[in-house]
Amino acid sequence: MKIICIGRNYAEHAKEMKSEVPTEPVFFMKPDTALLKDGEAFYYPDFTKDLHHEIEVVIKINRVGKHIEEQFAHKYYEEIGLGIDFTARDLQAQCKAKGLPWEKAKGFDGSAPLGRFVSKSQLGDLNGIAFELKVNGQSRQVGHTKDLLFSFDRVIAYVSKFVTLKVGDLIYTGTPEGVGPVVIGDRLQGYLNGDLFLEFEVK
Ligand code: MG
Repeated sequence: MKIICIGRNYAEHAKEMKSEVPTEPVFFMKPDTALLKDGEAFYYPDFTKDLHHEIEVVIKINRVGKHIEEQFAHKYYEEIGLGIDFTARDLQAQCKAKGLPWEKAKGFDGSAPLGRFVSKSQLGDLNGIAFELKVNGQSRQVGHTKDLLFSFDRVIAYVSKFVTLKVGDLIYTGTPEGVGPVVIGDRLQGYLNGDLFLEFEVK
């Protein structure tokens, strides 16, 4: 399986990063070794001093597809969950400054914590999902899928022009504004429509 991540999919996050608001989806990938499941602890890596949380709604692909049309894209996922796209912001800034790929800042082991999933039929309108990250009980990021620049279906259509989607692939659909650092000892909790979907500790 592969992990596809959408960058700059919320305008307010693009602005806080002083990035342009994109006119088509921006995507990158993380390897399967980035996954961190079942509430396992995340170990703060020694190669960064500025590790940022990015809470994101995650969709799980359940059919193989290539060149998927947007109008049919909803048939390619049934479950939705929540994850974190951990980012070594200091390394990312160095890569960006040199015009180099971001992989080491985004794709390192454990950089994709993943919570539980729920059938999308239980979430109602997929453009009306609210999600939130709390760190040590304090709200850090609140997002609403109505603010997505590119919808789940648009993202699937776009990415599948370039990359075949396979069963079990995950798409992290982008983070809203409010990204910031975590430190050792932090407890992260992710909520989808008010329900706890993701919880782990930084060690
Ligand atoms: Mg992200």
